[in-house]
Amino acid sequence: MADRFTVLRTNAELRARIAELAAEISRDYENCVTEEHPLLLLCTLRGAVFFAADLARCLTVPAELNFIKVHTYVGKESKLKPEFELGKDIPVKGQRVLILEDIVDTGRTMDCVVRHYYESGADSVEICTMLDKTHARAKGYEKVVPKYAGFEIENEFVVGFGLDCDEKFRLLPDVCVYHSDSEQS
Ligand code: 5GP
Ligand code: MG
Repeated sequence: MADRFTVLRTNAELRARIAELAAEISRDYENCVTEEHPLLLLCTLRGAVFFAADLARCLTVPAELNFIKVHTYVGKESKLKPEFELGKDIPVKGQRVLILEDIVDTGRTMDCVVRHYYESGADSVEICTMLDKTHARAKGYEKVVPKYAGFEIENEFVVGFGLDCDEKFRLLPDVCVYHSDSEQS
């Protein structure tokens, strides 16, 4: 069982990097958010919950936390289409929005989310992701570049620190590359 996981980033490494990101974000937003107009953090469920909880608590600027859920399904014409399950109607008019994401892969989800909140009237929409598979962007989504990224990783399937595989392994403390049983035999 144990050799099905290769630790990629330890919990300590993740937490240290999250503190750095929070300091950078706090510096960047200190002159444009206030108690009346706080930074609006939108955490993607469920993978980003631990990342968001740790990061939000390290910020030194006024911020609010809310949650969104986006599901990607195969639509007509066999195209992959992200669709909001939660958070589509969160009011963002005139607000600074920061999406907190677990991992950016093809870029489809974040492309859809960023467009949606701009269209809903946000002043700015940026992405902060714990992990970025920079080489995995789908054709046409190369311009999905998170402003803040914890770690760039290779195009491998990872679990832990919030990331799951069919709802399993989410609670592992470290981010690990997951080798499924079929890979082993
Ligand atoms: P994208 O729309 O960028 O292709 O996909 C983003 C979503 O796919 C992520 O938010 C995450 O839920 C899922 N995902 C992509 N790569 C991985 C991975 O390596 N491990 C896990 N557990 N989920 C992933
Ligand atoms: Mg996600």
